[in-house]
Amino acid sequence: MSSQKSTSALKADTKLAHAGRDPLAFHGFVNPPVVHASTVLYPDTKTLVTGQQTYSYARRGNPTTDSLESALAEIEGAAGVKIANSGLNAIALAVLSCVKAGDHILIADTAYGPTRHFADTVLPGLGITVEYYAPSLGEEIRSLFRPETTAVFTEAPGSLTFEMQDVPAIAAAARTIDATVLMDNTWASPLFCQPLSLGVDLSIQAGTKYIVGHSDVMLGTVAANERAWGKLHTLYGAMGCHAAPDDVFLGLRGLRTLSVRLERHQRNTMEILNWLSGRPEIGALKYPALANDPGHEIWRRDFSGSSGLCAFDFVSGTSEEQAFKFLDTLTLFGLGFSWGGFESLAIPVRLKGQRTVAPFDPDLQSVRLHIGLEDPEDLIKDMEQALTEAFD
Ligand SMILES: *Cc1c(COP(=O)(O)O)cnc(C)c1O
Repeated sequence: MSSQKSTSALKADTKLAHAGRDPLAFHGFVNPPVVHASTVLYPDTKTLVTGQQTYSYARRGNPTTDSLESALAEIEGAAGVKIANSGLNAIALAVLSCVKAGDHILIADTAYGPTRHFADTVLPGLGITVEYYAPSLGEEIRSLFRPETTAVFTEAPGSLTFEMQDVPAIAAAARTIDATVLMDNTWASPLFCQPLSLGVDLSIQAGTKYIVGHSDVMLGTVAANERAWGKLHTLYGAMGCHAAPDDVFLGLRGLRTLSVRLERHQRNTMEILNWLSGRPEIGALKYPALANDPGHEIWRRDFSGSSGLCAFDFVSGTSEEQAFKFLDTLTLFGLGFSWGGFESLAIPVRLKGQRTVAPFDPDLQSVRLHIGLEDPEDLIKDMEQALTEAFD
């Protein structure tokens, strides 16, 4: 069958270049083919009825999806990986694989907004009780456990507000009641955080962000450990999930350069936050890689790098009009959702309706930035002229 070598003993950057590829299985071409397919033919009836063939039907996988799944499984140290057609689809799939009617799920109050929307609109109808918890809880999350708690959802740093979570402490507590631990690890990517090694069972990526990396495709990934893999794999098949081959191929292409892109996102972000910290219009910066960030110690312990997504508050007393003026005056930062591509983006942070446990100041004006691969000097000049325009 496959002559593909395991890359599990190699360093992360080497894995990114080699995992999931088997050139000699495809006439020596470096990359796997993009297989557009539904039907798979069998050589004879006996093979068809016994199913003794690698591929049976394209919904169940093809060489292109196998390549991305096996590459990510090696990178994440997973028993198996499934590719979903968006990050949110990956989250829904992962959650549904570990809860059933009568269960109770704990979700971090700082989870990505659409994750909350899924939990609030879909789970109650299935008889699942949803409870949000403060992201500051570590081992103390035990106090929220009920006999029917079967899943704990984490995300670090938190969407929009960037609080870190003590994921290993949460995972250790959850293990005592045999609950499944999930983590949305989109911010760090599997390169800078390895959730399964922190005790997480299901590690989720919005592949749309850094894996794809070019703002041109939507994908999601779920990496499972031994314990969680069987149920994830069964649900994926039963639900008829499938990701399109061209999109999966672009995910594979993005994966090969993840490390060099992230290194640059990280460097540019540090440079820009450093500049912002000296500006009188700017209050708190939200980025756990900064030494004075409240989550810095956890970040240093559990992560090996930081990405291009961060936020800042304007000083208190800044009006919404000034914040909007700043955003509208930027020329190099696009105004738009999503992130993880090569280009810089900015959005106003709107927490109303997105937090029910962790407090926030509704009058504070904040901006979320995605720092792209542009020259940071140009980005700084752009922000400087926008600040001047908004605050003069
Ligand atoms: C964007 C995002 C998602 C969802 O990914 P989509 O591909 O847009 O569905 C999930 N989690 C986080 C943290 C995200 O930023």
